[in-house]
Amino acid sequence: MHGAHKIGEYWSKIPTYEHRAKCTHCNADNESLEHILINCPNNTSSLIWSLAKRTWPLKFGNWPRISIGTVLGCGNINLPPLTRQNNPPDNQPANNSQKGASRLLKILISESAYLIWTMRCDRTGTI
Ligand SMILES: [Zn+2]
Repeated sequence: MHGAHKIGEYWSKIPTYEHRAKCTHCNADNESLEHILINCPNNTSSLIWSLAKRTWPLKFGNWPRISIGTVLGCGNINLPPLTRQNNPPDNQPANNSQKGASRLLKILISESAYLIWTMRCDRTGTI
C-alpha cells in the first residue's frame, strides 16, 4: 500500500529519470497515488468518480466522499444498517440488510480506481 508503485518520488532518485516524478497531465511535482486517483485536476478521474456516483442507488444512502483512504480500505467497507436518517424515500421498501449495498460500493470504488490507474498507465506508457 505504501511505495509499491513506481510513481513520483521513486523516479526522483534515479538519474535521467527525474522527469517521471511529475504528473504528465498537470506537471505536479512528485506524483502520488492520491494525486492520480483523486486530486489531479486534469485527468479523467473526476469523470470516472462522477459516473460511479451516478451508478450508486441513493436508496442505499449518500455516495461517500472518496479519499485515498476510502480507495485503499474499500475492501473492508461494511455499511451500517439503514437508520431513520438515511432511510430510503417512503415509496421504497426499507432494507436493513446492507450486505448487497456494501458489496456494490466495494465494486464501484475498486473498479473505478483500477480504471483510473490503468488509463493513467496506458497514457504514460508504463503498462
Ligand atoms: Zn496531475
